[in-house]
Amino acid sequence: MITAHSYAAFDPQSPLKSWDFQRREVGDDDVQIDILFCGVCHSDLHYARSEWMPVTYPQVVGHEIVGKVVSVGKNVTGHQVGDIVGVGCIVDSCRHCDHCEADLENYCLEGMQGTYMGVEKQTGKPTQGGYSTVIVVDENYVLRVPAGMDPAKAAPLLCAGITVYSPLRHWKAGPGKIVGIVGLGGLGHMGVKLAHAMGAKVILFTTSPGKVADGKKLGADDVVISKNEEDMARYAGQFDLIVNTVAASHNLDPFINLLKLDGTMVLVGAPATPHPSPQVFPLLMQRRSLAGSAIGGIKETQEMLDFCAEHDVMPEIEMTSMQDINQAWERVAKSDVKYRFVIDMATLKTEQTKD
Ligand code: NAP
Ligand code: ZN
Ligand code: ZN
Repeated sequence: MITAHSYAAFDPQSPLKSWDFQRREVGDDDVQIDILFCGVCHSDLHYARSEWMPVTYPQVVGHEIVGKVVSVGKNVTGHQVGDIVGVGCIVDSCRHCDHCEADLENYCLEGMQGTYMGVEKQTGKPTQGGYSTVIVVDENYVLRVPAGMDPAKAAPLLCAGITVYSPLRHWKAGPGKIVGIVGLGGLGHMGVKLAHAMGAKVILFTTSPGKVADGKKLGADDVVISKNEEDMARYAGQFDLIVNTVAASHNLDPFINLLKLDGTMVLVGAPATPHPSPQVFPLLMQRRSLAGSAIGGIKETQEMLDFCAEHDVMPEIEMTSMQDINQAWERVAKSDVKYRFVIDMATLKTEQTKD
């Protein structure tokens, strides 16, 4: 077995604490990755705090993992020792359902295995995520980090990046389209950058007046304070697509009213408590759609990494140490991140060496 040093949640309220656990041995199809960086996703908080569902503790979260390959199984052909690689939210899936065969492992009909929130096929144990020193993953679920890409900045692409890239592609964001992004956090800031890089006109909706200038710097053509009804009214009936990343329950109707005929609002934010039900009339009067989207498949995640390398679309990150994770989480909970925390896992390795 391989000992992983980590920071884990032991119950819904207490701070994360140091914990050692065993990873499975490297199987014939597996890659062992020495974790260098892990991004902090709001889903880490929702899950570890049992906000979505009751969780079995201890639980290690983190699904924006970048590291170096240190060992490979005998069947592995796609990755070599020394490669810089990524692991996102998926570490396995059934591989034979219609969705897996269509490269949509994120919608696997038998349920994908989450990097956390899953059950490891090989051991039957709960999967444990990237706030740890090492991970073992089947090579088919490991991404190539493009040469020259900053590995710390690559980490947030593996969840925040793909979660907005996938709906922007599916609903065809591009030249001539008006795209709204709701919420300027980890997902939202990548949404602004990616939609802009795809050639769409981008309008950011935020509840934080202090983020207006940043929104424009990141690529938004305009920024609207979503609580300001007059400002919102300026955009009534204009949008082809709105990607809503907000991490809290809110009234969806003011955003639905901004869609044009056949426009779609895609919910990617996953609040702990449900949104109030939207009204029917704003939807039916302009044949508008309300949709949802979850991360993206492995092939599309690789495509997104390559797109980001080619167009130099990278996240704005704040580095944190593993020891400061609880303060970082408090700031995430207050929507006060510029715009993604990334944990430098060297800080955890130092702790392990001292033990
Ligand atoms: P984040 O960095 O915390 O950003 C969320 C943003 O939502 C905030 O920056 C804030 O933007 C806005 N917001 C407005 N009111 C809020 C409130 N009361 N509480 C919290 N946020 C509020 O979070 P994230 O990591 O981008 O994740 C956003 C959501 O997407 C989370 O619910 C997460 O679980 C979910 N998620 C879903 C998927 C998927 O596959 N669908 C993948 C990853 C994450 P302003 O300050 O600009 O208003
Ligand atoms: Zn995530
Ligand atoms: Zn499947």
